[in-house]
Amino acid sequence: ENQNLFSALRASFPADLDDLAIETDDGLRYSWRDLDRATAMMANLLDALDLPAHSRIAVQVEKSVEALVLYLATLRAGHVFLPLNTAYRQAEIAYFIGNAEPAVVVCAPANHGWVSKLAFQAGTRYVFTLGEDRTGSLLDRAAPMPDSHAPAVRNADDLAAILYTSGTTGRSKGAMLSHGNLLSNAQVLRDYWQWQPDDVLIHALPIFHVHGLFVAIHGALINGSRMIWLSKFDPKRVVEKLPEATVFMGVPTLYVRMLSEPALTQAQAARMRLFISGSAPLLVETFRDWQTRTGHTILERYGMSETVMLTSNPCGVDPRHADATERRGGTVGFPLPGVDLRVVGEAGQGVASGEIGGIQVRGPNVFRGYWRMPEKTAEEFTADGFFKTGDVGRIDADGYVTIVGRSKDLIISGGYNVYPAEIESVINEMPGVAESAVVGVPHPDFGEVGVAVVIGRQGADIDPEPVLADLKARLANFKIPKHCVVVTELPRNTMGKVQKNLLREQYRGLFG
Ligand code: ATP
Ligand code: MG
Repeated sequence: ENQNLFSALRASFPADLDDLAIETDDGLRYSWRDLDRATAMMANLLDALDLPAHSRIAVQVEKSVEALVLYLATLRAGHVFLPLNTAYRQAEIAYFIGNAEPAVVVCAPANHGWVSKLAFQAGTRYVFTLGEDRTGSLLDRAAPMPDSHAPAVRNADDLAAILYTSGTTGRSKGAMLSHGNLLSNAQVLRDYWQWQPDDVLIHALPIFHVHGLFVAIHGALINGSRMIWLSKFDPKRVVEKLPEATVFMGVPTLYVRMLSEPALTQAQAARMRLFISGSAPLLVETFRDWQTRTGHTILERYGMSETVMLTSNPCGVDPRHADATERRGGTVGFPLPGVDLRVVGEAGQGVASGEIGGIQVRGPNVFRGYWRMPEKTAEEFTADGFFKTGDVGRIDADGYVTIVGRSKDLIISGGYNVYPAEIESVINEMPGVAESAVVGVPHPDFGEVGVAVVIGRQGADIDPEPVLADLKARLANFKIPKHCVVVTELPRNTMGKVQKNLLREQYRGLFG
């Protein structure tokens, strides 16, 4: 049997291919038949290029349904999809293309000049363009191709995609994901989130990242569910569309922005079944505000480029945790079925329930390694085959996993481990505080000390001194940041992740 992910997705299309599959915010409507034909034409184009099997197809284009078609066509033709963040500029693209050596590069029409120069230097054979408005050479070349295509035969272990990590903690690494990694995760989520064929997903995320590309798109396709496709996130537009939809997926900042829309009400969200959040920690406050405003409890889940999804709060009753059916704010829920997740201490030993340690995972979803980084790959796996996520967390007595931060953000002050998330959550509960980030900077006596960067709510006037005084009253002395600054916003990348490396850089000179 063909284990090509495309074949599994295609097999899930509804019986009536004339049903609506995707509608866009500019009024375009694509049926399932349209998706089938368009991906066939583009896969036939890729076949006609006579590329080596398993070629990498690197893509940096604005979000469009045609870009989605290109992803599916790449799978269908048996090549390896390599999406690139649209925010990346010339020097960054040069690194990725040089590193990935794609056979084909697809870029925005406006970038064609410099992208082709870079690509041909790296040995790329074809550079095509794809505009957000269905323009460009890729579609021109695909237009005369036949509209049926037998998917390339692939094994579960064959590569389907290389996804560069977000680069939050350092240089991005290319995570190699197989057809089996992606399909097994899509199947698990289909059941765990109780998808229904008549679900309608609002797709408002970028499609160069695991969240929008895999979790959202596979979720809709493998259930034959319709998508409302927004090329850019616009909080007003999403709130407007809620009555037509049942599922929404967002990063925490999207929820925060939607909460500032007065039109977001219980009535407006009445038809919705599921709001899902991930990619960065959801503040407990946002979780609560969302409950009050919409009557819905956001389901938070946790995953990464290397593993797709790992844990999720329950959607219905999880038979493994029949007594714990609620979604708990501040936690990322239970390991998904099939995912082995453990928390280990510094020497790799297991820790007691509730104790903090490094999170390690194993399962059919865990990637095949970092592209062209065999040493790095070997370092990040244990002898018994667990992947070290680099995240730090704990599992409570009921089985809920909480992420307390990343091991790279851990502060070692005077020999003590300080977990920034613990301090941040105390600061975040203080009156007038919207959010905060605590980072470690060098210190002559303690090695490292914390600096608290605090953002006030609109109109609130926050002084650093009382914040530190309040912390002293509540936490052990070694945990207290030695400095506090109040600023207007935190540096974030396109997925809404706080870039602590930039904060560390900014404040590293504070103590000499
Ligand atoms: P890099 O690995 O290049 O530093 P990155 O880890 O941010 O970047 P991604 O693979 O996009 O790149 O993100 C995965 C990380 O996002 C996880 O390891 C975790 O730290 C964080 N994350 C994802 N979901 C959640 C969540 N619900 N709560 C807290 N953190 C989360
Ligand atoms: Mg990472």
